Amino acid sequence: MSKGRQLYELQEVDLEIEAKREALSNVQSRLGQSHALDEARANLATQKNCVDELNASQRAGEWEVEDLRTKVAVIEQKLYGGTVKNPKELASLHEQAEHLKKRRREEEDKVLDIMTEMDAAQANLAMISQKVKSLKKSWKEEQAELSREQDRLSTNLANLEQKRKDLGSRVDAASLRLYEELRTKKQGRAVAKVEQGMCQGCRIVLPVRELQRARASQELVQCGNCERILYVS
Ligand SMILES: [Zn+2]
Repeated sequence: MSKGRQLYELQEVDLEIEAKREALSNVQSRLGQSHALDEARANLATQKNCVDELNASQRAGEWEVEDLRTKVAVIEQKLYGGTVKNPKELASLHEQAEHLKKRRREEEDKVLDIMTEMDAAQANLAMISQKVKSLKKSWKEEQAELSREQDRLSTNLANLEQKRKDLGSRVDAASLRLYEELRTKKQGRAVAKVEQGMCQGCRIVLPVRELQRARASQELVQCGNCERILYVS
């Protein structure tokens, strides 16, 4: 096998390793993450608060209604019990009772409004709760899939790294050094295939002599234009 081909194969493995590493880090960055779920959970907490507050308001309103009802009953007891005879006092009691009844009706209306609001709030809470449930389910499934993908990629990567080691050990040190040097300079592509007399690294038609050397030589031949190691398949 020519050195060019050896290095080309090495490059294929290196590129694959690079792609797998990127995929792995992408998978790892998505593990444990759940923006949509976090958001829905925060929404759920807010909505629960809202329902709790409405509940408290409704109870307070109901107590207020009850309190006013008792007060009215006490006054009416005085009004109609026959113990108070003074007309001025009776008129005043009557006025107080009417005033308290008016307040009671207002409170009752408020409670009714709260109950209507509560219906909507509870429906909303049920909807958000359902959403959290379904997001949680799909998140769990996604996490499981990501975890499997992580395992697959890790195994794959370990195999590729072993293969890289084996291939690398078959190349002489000087060639390997040149390859590594060019790999850094040429964004991972140190070796270029030659197709139809053209360097696929820089798309330049190679001079005939360079092409012949690349074909025949056991030594490494570099493209005169882009410096890449040439590999004629
Ligand atoms: Zn070139």
